[in-house]
Amino acid sequence: MKRLLTLFLAALVLLLPGCAGIDSDESFTAMDTFMSLRVSSDNADEAALLRAEIERLDVLFSPTSPGSDIARLNAEGTAEVDAATAEVIDTSLALCKELDGALDLTVFPIVEEWGFISKDYRIPSRETIEALLKRTGYSAVAVEGSRVTLPEGFAIDLGAVAKGYAADRCVAMLREENASGAILNLGGTVAAFGKKSGGAQWTVGIADPEQSAQYIGYVSCSDKIVATSGSYERYFVGDDGVTYCHIIDPQTGYPVQSDLLSVTVISDSGLRSDALSTALFVKGENGAADFYRAHGGFEYILLTKNRQVVLSDGIRDSFTLTDSAWEIMG
Ligand code: AMP
Ligand code: MG
Repeated sequence: MKRLLTLFLAALVLLLPGCAGIDSDESFTAMDTFMSLRVSSDNADEAALLRAEIERLDVLFSPTSPGSDIARLNAEGTAEVDAATAEVIDTSLALCKELDGALDLTVFPIVEEWGFISKDYRIPSRETIEALLKRTGYSAVAVEGSRVTLPEGFAIDLGAVAKGYAADRCVAMLREENASGAILNLGGTVAAFGKKSGGAQWTVGIADPEQSAQYIGYVSCSDKIVATSGSYERYFVGDDGVTYCHIIDPQTGYPVQSDLLSVTVISDSGLRSDALSTALFVKGENGAADFYRAHGGFEYILLTKNRQVVLSDGIRDSFTLTDSAWEIMG
């Protein structure tokens, strides 16, 4: 009997770390990408609740689903939108300003013209791009309460920020539920919430741009959002032999051509990480370093075409390189 009791107590001790929460997970496609959620919380339905919220936002934000907030706004030029849509547009407009227009929600007509929405890729004429550039400029978008208004001929797209905003919503829900830990991968925007069940930090892999199912290294962190933008995510090779990626330089109307293959940004805010990863891809290596010095509040990892890893000062101790084909600079 005493032996049985000892065994029982030993088993209880072993199980204790698991008592921090019930694990739940979900894998699905939303926002045009694959998502996977793993949550440890007292609520066994937590992952399903997060999935439902992401799917709700996807329906609101989709530029191609007729009747969505963004489709109505683009079609009518003005629309009453959900509080979440108004919030993400309003906050993103402030980020467009902070980023000097390297992020610009109004480049949508240009993104569409290059075929990145229909996936019927084509190189527009210079005249077409010049004409479309006249229909862009984030500062002309007005948000008053739940009403959003665009100038004639304008259209917006939340593709650069939607996953980050969704990650923030999920983190807020996890906090409300007192969840102990979660790792949420929203198509390359990863929320590392709390700790692993054993108390360790999360490790977030940095995708190899040449084989994106593999990692070149990882970041150890907790309560951070790690967002990656890369030219390898969506691109086409034109008849001219040039590779065109889905991130547009709002100044020229052309897909960004640079030595960067990907930009990862790590910060406390999903919206900020997602906005910055896209915009620093536009700004390039020197522009990213200048913006980091002037603004801060985030860290970055740049991967270049020469297989070099460029790290901001505050991430060096948290990043581990695992692929010897790459080298850390500086
Ligand atoms: P991400 O994957 O977060 O880097 O966002 C890229 C998506 O945002 C693209 O597929 C476009 O829909 C849109 N986009 C492209 N260039 C820009 C830009 N300079 N500013 C805002 N959105 C952009
Ligand atoms: Mg982004």
